[in-house]
Amino acid sequence: MGLVEDKVKAYLNSIKKYNKIINAFLEVRNEKELIAEAKLLDSKEKKGRLYGYVIGVKSNICVKGLHASCASKTLEDYQAPYDATVISRIKAEDGLIIGMLNCDEFACGWTGETSVFGRTDNPSLPGHISGGSSSGSAASVAAGFCDISLGSDTGGSIRVPASFCGVVGVKPSYGFVSRYGLIDLSMSLDQIGPIAKNVSDASLVLDVIKGKDDRDTTTFESKPIKNEKTNRMSFGLVSVPQVDIRIIDMIATILAKASDKLKWSEKKINIKNIDLAIQTYHPIVWTEFFSATRRMDGRRFGKKIEDSAGEEVLRRLAGGSEISKAEFEGQYYHKALVVKELIKKEFERVLGEVDFIVMPTTPFLPWKFGTKVSLEKLYAIDALTIPGNLAEICAISIPIGKIDGKPVGMQVVCSKGHESKMISIAKEIEKIVQ
Ligand code: GLN
Repeated sequence: MGLVEDKVKAYLNSIKKYNKIINAFLEVRNEKELIAEAKLLDSKEKKGRLYGYVIGVKSNICVKGLHASCASKTLEDYQAPYDATVISRIKAEDGLIIGMLNCDEFACGWTGETSVFGRTDNPSLPGHISGGSSSGSAASVAAGFCDISLGSDTGGSIRVPASFCGVVGVKPSYGFVSRYGLIDLSMSLDQIGPIAKNVSDASLVLDVIKGKDDRDTTTFESKPIKNEKTNRMSFGLVSVPQVDIRIIDMIATILAKASDKLKWSEKKINIKNIDLAIQTYHPIVWTEFFSATRRMDGRRFGKKIEDSAGEEVLRRLAGGSEISKAEFEGQYYHKALVVKELIKKEFERVLGEVDFIVMPTTPFLPWKFGTKVSLEKLYAIDALTIPGNLAEICAISIPIGKIDGKPVGMQVVCSKGHESKMISIAKEIEKIVQ
């Protein structure tokens, strides 16, 4: 038997045994078809760069013939009629798509609990939230159901579940990866990115899916991702008041070791207006989400969204419909865009002074299912991930250890288009953690 055939069989076995508990996959491709495709890949003389990788996909990304349900009743019967650009690129490099993954409904959420198909359990911490919205993407990798997965990140949806499940997650710079074939939450913030067990796997997939695409005019050409020298770099540490102090301590220990080894130096930095990130993000998301979902009117795409979606989606649609009213003349949306620009400029200024910024991925550690949590606390989960989306820069969450058995993630953030530098720094951090 060949490599991919072996792998697919082993993955199908674990999925059969454990997916009932974890609920990461919503749809797994037909076994016969998968094995036939695996055999074909194994027999190819000239193999692509993703040969040997079995990949899961978040259910808001189109894979021809599979369900892009967005974990919602609204699109539960929607089978994608075409491949998203990221999927065609993965297939062209011999990656094997195994199935579609659970998520918070329409990628709106923080914990992985708003999927209409049920919550996703955290394989690294059973009985606890996996984080959202790309809950299945992080859980599938952590559970050993596939090698790599794709998620989408509008305000933290790749990095938050990656952090909670103890795996690596990358939010590429805005425009680094094509959004063609992604069912959008907020088109000016969304990016597709990889979740993987280690930085080098994430980097490989990122390198395959990146680059200009005529079907998404926001995309830009970029050089291949390669290792860069990381000696004698400078960094700044950013946090917010809500952060669990133990997370900061753990990050400080890692940074001290890295600084010793690589002669890094810390500079004091201050990112103005970072405290406005959450208030700025939501009016943008509400407005763009409301606009994007107008075609889900029960005629062409699925059911009418207002009649079929869950509470969090309806809350955002109500907000979006209200602030988009003609009498407001777009003032809330425009005001939010002005602040977005301020935050973006501020990151550009600071990233002109230091090579990279370090932040906790989340202020808190994952909690047990059933824990009573206020809406304010939920919103605060993204306090340190949303700024990266508003600023359009790249960010990676790296697992750095555990506190009370709970995984902890640390973010490395670099300027727009500086993915090679970010990946190189992340690889150094990963070595120090191991
Ligand atoms: N938790 C954020 C939200 O609910 C982020 C979602 C995302 O990145 N898709 O909007």
